[in-house]
Amino acid sequence: MLKRKTEIFKLLGFTVSVDVSWGIILFLVVWSLAKGAFPAYYPNLSMQTYWIMGVIGALGLFLSIIIHEFSHSLVARKYGMDIKGITLFIFGGVAEMKDEPNNPKTEFFMAIAGPIASLILSMLFGILYQMATVMELPVPIIAILGYLSAINVLLAIFNMIPAFPTDGGRILRSILWWIKGDIRVATLVASRISVFFAMFIIFTGFMHLIQGNVMGGVWWILIGSFLFSAANSSYQSLLIKQSFAGKKVEDYMNKNPVTVPSHISLQEFVDQYLYPYHYKMFPVTQDGTISGLITLNALKSVPREKWPTTQVIQIMQKTTKDNTLPAAMSVQEAMFLMNESGISRMLVSAHHKIVGIITLKDMLEFFTLKIELEE
Ligand SMILES: [Zn+2]
Repeated sequence: MLKRKTEIFKLLGFTVSVDVSWGIILFLVVWSLAKGAFPAYYPNLSMQTYWIMGVIGALGLFLSIIIHEFSHSLVARKYGMDIKGITLFIFGGVAEMKDEPNNPKTEFFMAIAGPIASLILSMLFGILYQMATVMELPVPIIAILGYLSAINVLLAIFNMIPAFPTDGGRILRSILWWIKGDIRVATLVASRISVFFAMFIIFTGFMHLIQGNVMGGVWWILIGSFLFSAANSSYQSLLIKQSFAGKKVEDYMNKNPVTVPSHISLQEFVDQYLYPYHYKMFPVTQDGTISGLITLNALKSVPREKWPTTQVIQIMQKTTKDNTLPAAMSVQEAMFLMNESGISRMLVSAHHKIVGIITLKDMLEFFTLKIELEE
């Protein structure tokens, strides 16, 4: 599995990680500051100075985003929500929540904390900028403070765009939630408004392109497409999160799965198990305990004429971390892992024993049933 994020440090019990995309962004920020913004506003400095200013400016931005995310996380924690950590990625950061907020008030304050933190930072940097100007400190210091003041206002504004999953989108949803009293309706409406905003931003990008502003245009289109896909998927993922909140693998596992003895032949397996039950995976027992599994795919890899002479044990997969989930794992995490690995049927273990099996299909069927009942 490709590791997309790297842990950088821990603070106040939160783990701060960076997504790989952030490396690229960091470089782009340094580069555009050193080559573009600083020379344009503060000419006649050496190239070396501009690069140093660029690096410090980018680090300041990095710190500002971390403070923004921390404010979300601290407020969330104050309301008793479990935050795993903070990941910085391409358009800023995300605080990783295990659950959705359980009332509109929590969501509102949690969401608005970020932009407020950015505005406060902007003011602080603005004051420092004024002081540095009055005290006639070296130009690079004044320039960096000015930049940080401006970029924090931009961060606050960008995050207030009412398009899921930005802070503005969450604020919008929390207000709708409060008015309608139903998080699902609120999310649906908020994600539709978000899609509209995203399309508007993409449209703005194309207008810029037509007018010859290529960089600006591409930037708008990128942001718009990101918001577009996020807005589209947020409603669905909310429904899933909500339905499975607090549920564990053991709540949905099949505790008495049909098991196959390891010593029978593949032909017997096909006749006695595969055709009657038509599952794609069966746990395999040896001396009465489950010690592995057999899949349809593994069977297909053996030529048909060898089925009568090949035993189940010869093609069974031993229980490993890759095909076994702990019974106490949250359903959301299990679904995430199944999606990542593409393995939709797994064994479930508790206290070093296989206690059942879980399939993505069962969980999704439960989910559709629940939605249908509540519709
Ligand atoms: Zn935010």
